[in-house]
Amino acid sequence: MKRIVLSEKALYRGSLILVNKKSPFRDDICNVPLVPLDEEKDAVLMERQSAGLLNKLIEETNAKDRIIAVSGWRSKAEQADIYEQSIKKNGRKFTQKYVAFPGCSEHHTGLAVDLAENRTEIDFIRPDFPYEGICGNFRGKAAMFGFVERYPRGKEKITGIAWEPWHFRYVGIPHALIMRQREMVFEEYHQFLREHEYSLNPYVCAYGQRNAEISYLRAAEHGDTFMEIDENALFTVSGNNTDGFIITVWR
Ligand SMILES: [Zn+2]
Repeated sequence: MKRIVLSEKALYRGSLILVNKKSPFRDDICNVPLVPLDEEKDAVLMERQSAGLLNKLIEETNAKDRIIAVSGWRSKAEQADIYEQSIKKNGRKFTQKYVAFPGCSEHHTGLAVDLAENRTEIDFIRPDFPYEGICGNFRGKAAMFGFVERYPRGKEKITGIAWEPWHFRYVGIPHALIMRQREMVFEEYHQFLREHEYSLNPYVCAYGQRNAEISYLRAAEHGDTFMEIDENALFTVSGNNTDGFIITVWR
């Protein structure tokens, strides 16, 4: 066995951080490596790994030039700007429904992207991304590349955000597949994992030749959190952005 030290700051980093009204993004702690989604136009930025996988997913769907990214990473200042502009243009009610409050937007993480079917007129706040055709094909493959439709219809009360068929979030494999299979949104998935405590009763999911064991480890009240793991185990750790870590062990 070896002992892994997880710092307090690690709580706010990783591909499984839950960012919403209750838990704002900690940009003072989380420094995301950003890259342009399209090398030729550097307008839309995303976190490095999720950008690579999104491009692969678009390639796999034969959707290059047919599906375009409207918005990826946003700074708090940019979000504040969009928020203000939208209040002026669309009013407060619309804005509160569709535009996250600055600091609470998933776009700050670099792991979220708004997509549109490429047409001459594209709505920046509510782009068209249908469930049929090429966008439907994209949706069918998204989870295999680690992406989920983050704000589906019928889950508005849980997410606190209106139905947004265009907004996708990278959470990684096997998490995206489990969320899709169990029809859970990210808030529900985090709640579900709390019942699967690290080293006691991990949630086991078969993926290819391996099993993934996923579990929740509560963070220490103060300072570092320690975890024990097999010497040669293959594993990843992500903070949940509030009070614990999600541990994924591959066997
Ligand atoms: Zn969005």
